[in-house]
Parts: sequence; structure tokens; C-alpha cells
Amino acid sequence: MELGGVQGTSDDAAVSKLSACLLGYYEDDFMRIFVGKETRRSPLINRGYFARVAAMDMIIERFMEATASGQRQIVVLGAGSDTTYFRLRKRGFLPDLYVEMDLEGVVAKKLDVIRHYEHVQEALGVTAGDVDAALASPPSARLLRSKNYVLTCADVRQPELFETVLSSLEGFDFSAPTLFISECVLCYVEPRDSEQFLRWALGKFPHAAFTSYEQILPDDAFGRTMLGHFESRGCPLLAIKSFPDIQAQTRRFETMGWPQVEVFDMNDVYYKCIPRSQVRHAERIEIFDEFEEWHMMQAHYCVILTSRSQDNRLEGLRLL
Ligand code: SAM
Repeated sequence: MELGGVQGTSDDAAVSKLSACLLGYYEDDFMRIFVGKETRRSPLINRGYFARVAAMDMIIERFMEATASGQRQIVVLGAGSDTTYFRLRKRGFLPDLYVEMDLEGVVAKKLDVIRHYEHVQEALGVTAGDVDAALASPPSARLLRSKNYVLTCADVRQPELFETVLSSLEGFDFSAPTLFISECVLCYVEPRDSEQFLRWALGKFPHAAFTSYEQILPDDAFGRTMLGHFESRGCPLLAIKSFPDIQAQTRRFETMGWPQVEVFDMNDVYYKCIPRSQVRHAERIEIFDEFEEWHMMQAHYCVILTSRSQDNRLEGLRLL
């Protein structure tokens, strides 16, 4: 099933993640099933995806450590074919609830893959019947659920529906610390829509953290090429013009009232935040001499981490 426009970007991410993990940049036992045709990416792209996944993993790990004493939840916006749930499960590191949300086409496609693999159903704690029932439901009620895992449809541009979906999940607790992950998702959403979502999350959750991986610096030659690439694929980067750099991204969250905001470009994340042992491992995998392109590419992506907690529970959740 080929998805177009913004939903098709999920397949691109999956192909690149698979390329990186088949070469050994990181371990992932489940990515293979979500990709139709394997394609080996360049060392530059592989290293970039390694850094992206390592950054998100590191934030999840810090969130889990900061909230170790009680209930906690992770909500993945635009989860696509992401397989983080399986990797966390393998490490015995799951939160009480791990909720994946995406647009209807992507969720249907993910369910269709899950339907074909018994070992995946087993890892998720669901049955083939559960998957069939989810596929047979209308998209507005489509839900695959086990004790720790939820896959469902939700559009981040509609926070009121988002709230309805989350409220309907047994065990979901708006007062429990909750990490929202947007890995290349809010970049495709009009700034007024992402603002509405982020204000809603801030108002609704007393202990919330939000992380995003997204593009910056649209105005130089690399940035213009990057914008053109996404536009030609029918999925323009809608956020980057309003939040073109680290300062604008920081202001974006601070003016909404998120109290603790860190934004770093991926050069800083790679060289200062990701555990050195992982970086050393990644750097041994492929011959790599494109350092100028590497630093330029990484300067065009950033990680945002912000949190607020009424009792300072999330204060230690930081990039640096
Ligand atoms: N986060 C996944 C990853 O990094 O592997 C997928 C990233 S993919 C580049 C972008 C994802 O965002 C797609 O799965 C797309 O369907 C989803 N997306 C885009 N706009 C969305 C929206 N308004 N609401 C929910 N999901 C959205």
C-alpha cells in the first residue's frame, strides 16, 4: 500500500532506519517488516539516522529515569512505522502506557503489517483477532490495544479529538508524567495548529514533557534544497519559515509558557549529548570522509526538549 503526501514520509523514514540498522548502527529486530524494498543509504544518511534515533532514545531514557518512581506515559505523535516500542520492550524499559498515533492511512498500513506477523502480535501483546477488529472499525474508532501499547488514529491539528481519544483509553492518566514525542511530525503542520496542540498539552497535563526533532535554517543553499525536496514530494515543511533557527524555536515554546526549554542543533546533540560509546560504535561502521557535508546537514536539524511539572518532578529532564 503506497501512501502519498505527508503520510508517505513515514515510509522514507522507515527505509533509512532499516538501512542504518542492517549495517549495525543500532539494533532493531522489527524494522525489516515495515519496509517493502530494502535500500542501502549513503554513509551520511545512515549516520544522520543513527544520530536521530540515538537522540530520541536518550530523551526517552532520561524521561524514564526521571519518572522511575510512579506511573508514566509516552505519546508518540505521527509515529509512522517507528519501532521504538519493540526496542524498549526488549530492554524491559516500557512505560505504563506507550501510545502511538498517526493519520488514518499510516495506522491502517501499520495494522496491516502487524496482521501478517504472529511474533509482532506476540510482542505487542495482542491477537490476530484484535488486529482484524481494529482494521474493521471506522478510522475514528480504530484502536489496537494491549496492556502497555496503543495504536490509534489522531490528527495533531485537532487537540479536542486527541483529548477524546486519550480520555477513552483505560488506564490513561492525564495527571501522570507524560512524554510527547514528535520525530519529524510538527514540521509538516501549520504553526497555528502546532501551537494549539502545544497549548492544549500544557493546559491539560500537570507533568508534561515534549520533544521534537525537526528542520531549521531554510535560507542557505542546503536549506533551500531541503525545502524544495519536501515541496516536490507534496509535503512542504510548514513550520520552518516561522521557526527558522534555534532562537525562534526557543521563543516558540517560551512564549507559550513552557518553562524549561532546550534547543540544540544536531551537531551539538551528536558531539555533546549522545553517549560517547554509541558514537564511537557508529563511527567504526562505514568509511566516512564527508565531514563538511555532515556538519552542514546536522546544522539543519534540531532537537527541542521542554517540560513543565507542577512539583518539579521533571526538572532533571534535560539534554545538557
Ligand atoms: N515519527 C516517525 C519516524 O520518525 O519514524 C514518522 C516520521 S514521518 C517523517 C512523519 C509522520 O507524521 C507520518 O507518519 C505522518 O503521517 C505523520 N503526520 C503528519 N501530519 C500529521 C498530523 N497532522 N497528525 C498526525 N500525524 C501526522
